[in-house]
Amino acid sequence: MAKTHPTWSASLSAALGLLAVLGVLCFHFPELLTSRDIRTLYTEQFARHLLLFGIIAAFVLGTSAILRNRGKRVALVGVLSAALAVLLGGATVHFDPIDATPFSLGLDWFVLSLFFTALVFVPIEHLLAVRPHSPLRPEWRTDLAYFFLSHVLVQFILIAVTASTRTVSALVAFPALQAMIQSLPTWLQFVLAVFVADLAQALLHRTYHNLPWLWRFHAVHHSSRHMDWLAGSRIHLLEILLTRSVVLLPLVVLGFSSAAVNAYVILVGLQAVLAHANLRTDFGWLEYLLVTPRYHHWHHARHRDYIDINYAIHLPLVDILMGTFRLPPRGQWPEEYGVMKLETVPTGLLAQTLMPLRRKRLFEAYVGREGDA
Ligand SMILES: [Zn+2]
Ligand SMILES: [Zn+2]
Repeated sequence: MAKTHPTWSASLSAALGLLAVLGVLCFHFPELLTSRDIRTLYTEQFARHLLLFGIIAAFVLGTSAILRNRGKRVALVGVLSAALAVLLGGATVHFDPIDATPFSLGLDWFVLSLFFTALVFVPIEHLLAVRPHSPLRPEWRTDLAYFFLSHVLVQFILIAVTASTRTVSALVAFPALQAMIQSLPTWLQFVLAVFVADLAQALLHRTYHNLPWLWRFHAVHHSSRHMDWLAGSRIHLLEILLTRSVVLLPLVVLGFSSAAVNAYVILVGLQAVLAHANLRTDFGWLEYLLVTPRYHHWHHARHRDYIDINYAIHLPLVDILMGTFRLPPRGQWPEEYGVMKLETVPTGLLAQTLMPLRRKRLFEAYVGREGDA
């Protein structure tokens, strides 16, 4: 923390400046860079105000860092990026009516999601850290690359998941059961949907841990050595596709209303980030009712006794039913995070994406469990 703390305004300036450039590019190439589903979440006016704020903040923070001689190079990136964003049109950038395109990227989703998640979690992790570390801790670039990929490819992931669940759900239909579920009030459908989805998720999650060829992919997620809001983004693309399909399938087959499913999708987005967050908050008895950071941190513990426990992402009840619930006394946190043969996991998104596909001997050297230290 001490090393990077003095340059926080420079880092923030660079982050906001670069996001502003990406934001202006979204206005210039909306067909290509923004997704239709994501555009329904915000208005043009909102995006322009946010862009203006980003540009001004990048200028102010960057200039003040340069004047105080703190992280001058990084601050210069922020100021120059903000200048580039203005040259490209700034917050008043003109754009033409958006044509329909068969496929587009979710750069707008990346910019908005990164901005708001960081806005919430960076300050509270700073105040309530389990172990204080800078947001720019080791391997933050790798995890940011995962965050970028999973957001930019949002439409591709959505199409792939919807297609696979539709194909399978067309083969099975339980009209009586669907009618019964649809007759329930939305809030009850939501509670049931969370339980059903979490059960499906936990069963698949346990399979990831127990089937060696699936563990190869899931080991990427477990290779994070630093837990924070960004660490949970480290998931192999194939795992994202498989997990989302398997979790959505029972919700589609059972006929839950779209309101209940949408509420579940929002909850899973929030709780997946929260579960990894570097937050030492004591949730008391709530730890037994809802998955909290401490619950999922123990799932990531680099400790032989805690390798295969706490698979749930919403409800500890699911682990209690599966016999995989284990939570050390209140206030205890893992000493270390990661897979057992941690030092051999490759670094960087590309090497980690290719890792599961490498020859068995090489893979065993990475994350194999036998004879590990
Ligand atoms: Zn796991
Ligand atoms: Zn995790």
